[in-house]
Amino acid sequence: MPFTPFHLGPGAVFKAIGGRHFSFMIFGGSQVLIDLEPLVHMVRGDPVLHGPAHTFVGALGVAVVAAVVGRPASAFVLRRLGARDASIGWTVAGVSALVGTWSHVVLDGLIHRDMHPLWPLATGNPLLGLVYVETLYQACLACGVIGAAAIALRAAARHRIHRRSGAD
Ligand SMILES: [Zn+2]
Repeated sequence: MPFTPFHLGPGAVFKAIGGRHFSFMIFGGSQVLIDLEPLVHMVRGDPVLHGPAHTFVGALGVAVVAAVVGRPASAFVLRRLGARDASIGWTVAGVSALVGTWSHVVLDGLIHRDMHPLWPLATGNPLLGLVYVETLYQACLACGVIGAAAIALRAAARHRIHRRSGAD
């Protein structure tokens, strides 16, 4: 885990950079999907919460599922929202899901002692303790604010260009 929503902060920055080449919805779905693992362990009362899904290899598998399920699901939602072009390519779906699950493993790895991100190549967690937990949360929050602002600015600029070209 920690809190899945914190992972959405960096996602907003990825969206601001990637634009229509990045699906925030598939990215978000991949965060929920990968955190089903600790959720199930928590419910069962297991001592170890983070297993194979929270390794780079396992997260690759989670990304495949997130892309395959997320692509039609996101297209459906976009259509319902009235988007003119609701189609999402496989590359966009795959990259968004993989950026989602791998960034998740990195961020979680910084704070969770029970993770083995490099399994099966190595055990242990070399990422643990590289940053303070508070710093990480603040950085994720800042990413969310900056990313959302950049997305809004970009949308406003696009809207202006549309209006100007419509007036010609
Ligand atoms: Zn997690």
